[in-house]
Amino acid sequence: IIQDFFMRGEVLKPGQPLSISLAKKIAKLYDVRLTFEEAEPKEQVVIENPLEELKRKFEELYKDKDKLVPRPPVVTVMGHVDHGKTTLLDYIRKTRIAEKEEGGITQSIGAYQVEVDGKKITFIDTPGHEVFTEMRARGAQATDIVVLVVAADDGVMPQTIEAYNHAKSANVPIIVAINKIDKPNANVELTKQDLVTKLNLIPEEWGGDTIVVPISARNGTNVDTLLEMILLVAEMQDIRCIPDEPVRAVTIETKLDKGYGPVANAIVKDGVLKVGDYVVAGKSYGKVKALIDDKGRRIKEATPSTPVMIVGFEELPDPHSIIYVVESKEKAVEIVEKVKELEARELRKKRQIKLEEILKKMQEEDRKEVKLILKADTVGSLQALQNAIAKMRTKEIDIDIVHAGVGAINTSDVMLASASEAIILGFRVKADNQAAKTAESEGVQIKTYTIIYKLLEELKAALEGMLEPEE
Ligand code: GDP
Repeated sequence: IIQDFFMRGEVLKPGQPLSISLAKKIAKLYDVRLTFEEAEPKEQVVIENPLEELKRKFEELYKDKDKLVPRPPVVTVMGHVDHGKTTLLDYIRKTRIAEKEEGGITQSIGAYQVEVDGKKITFIDTPGHEVFTEMRARGAQATDIVVLVVAADDGVMPQTIEAYNHAKSANVPIIVAINKIDKPNANVELTKQDLVTKLNLIPEEWGGDTIVVPISARNGTNVDTLLEMILLVAEMQDIRCIPDEPVRAVTIETKLDKGYGPVANAIVKDGVLKVGDYVVAGKSYGKVKALIDDKGRRIKEATPSTPVMIVGFEELPDPHSIIYVVESKEKAVEIVEKVKELEARELRKKRQIKLEEILKKMQEEDRKEVKLILKADTVGSLQALQNAIAKMRTKEIDIDIVHAGVGAINTSDVMLASASEAIILGFRVKADNQAAKTAESEGVQIKTYTIIYKLLEELKAALEGMLEPEE
């Protein structure tokens, strides 16, 4: 064989693996029958998710309760729209943060910290349960106590119930603030009854175990009592953390700051975060260049439960990710690369399935088939394309146009392609944003052209490739 091929101008080496097309060529030449067997799928090297590894380290340390130290509680304010969440957060912030003394300008960093009787409380500044649940979904539970605001003139409303369910499923203790008691039509007793009948929350004064504080967020009535109750619940909960290191923080929000670049607003959960630390957050890493607190001051380090803006990420970190301090830049890069590789694998896995399926079908059936979805800018060009493509059909290769239409490639085209294992060809049209995203996640191939012969040429080449598939 080697000799024969040499004479034909092709060099083969002993022991050389043959591609499918070459094997077919040889079989044909010597008139032997060729059968194919499916190869064992290659084992992929297992990469452990480095973030899981980091997480486990903390879980281990949490088992040793004696080494943990108390930290201030982190509070989220939830409730129905217009029941006064923002007003309450603003009132607490305004009255408890003495800006003049601090000499800074209040900075909105997603959370703030106040002091009550020498003890600290951190409030997440975004009211509502969306952020709360989003963070939880990503395993970044940041809240220790929920303040459920219920307006005394409105009672328990749909979003009150929703918020309550979110808090309950997260197993976070709830303090109810019955708000707007200054209003003439406020009815605290009726609201309490509502709590019992609609949420099964029985106030302490009625023999239950739910702390209920009637307040006026606008006038500040009883807000101090509410804060004291938060401290009381915090004490009962015995909220603790790892004192110095390892360090991790929970991201509340991320943004591209005009001056600082990519920043993460976060609350430190364990350990002490310091300027100069190397950090990873999902697929992003960085070296902490600056830490800015809720009073707009640059600080050198942030202790547990401190809200802080972290400056120094190379890229925008994933929102709601957990930020870990690692020992070096090399380690940070290594982790981030692994995380990226794992994500890419997930995507590839989807693609492989599709490709494998198509290849398998092609081997099983003698007849080969290409499925296409055609999109073009005008009816005229679409027809021209359809005609030209129809001429490419041969005995061996069938071309099935699953769908042809005028206009941009949209999500429904992509889903159709995904379901029917088709390739999408666009002539003088592009995929809209959503369709492009879906195509990526579904592993659907989209090719767009502006010149008709280019399209036909490439299609022809692809069809010939199918006749003699390379390994
Ligand atoms: P959120 O949607 O829950 O954040 O509600 P807001 O804080 O925006 O409040 C909705 C409206 O209720 C605003 O007009 C507030 O001024 C008003 N409000 C909030 N708290 C009180 C209160 O204690 N008393 C009175 N009378 N009005 C209040």
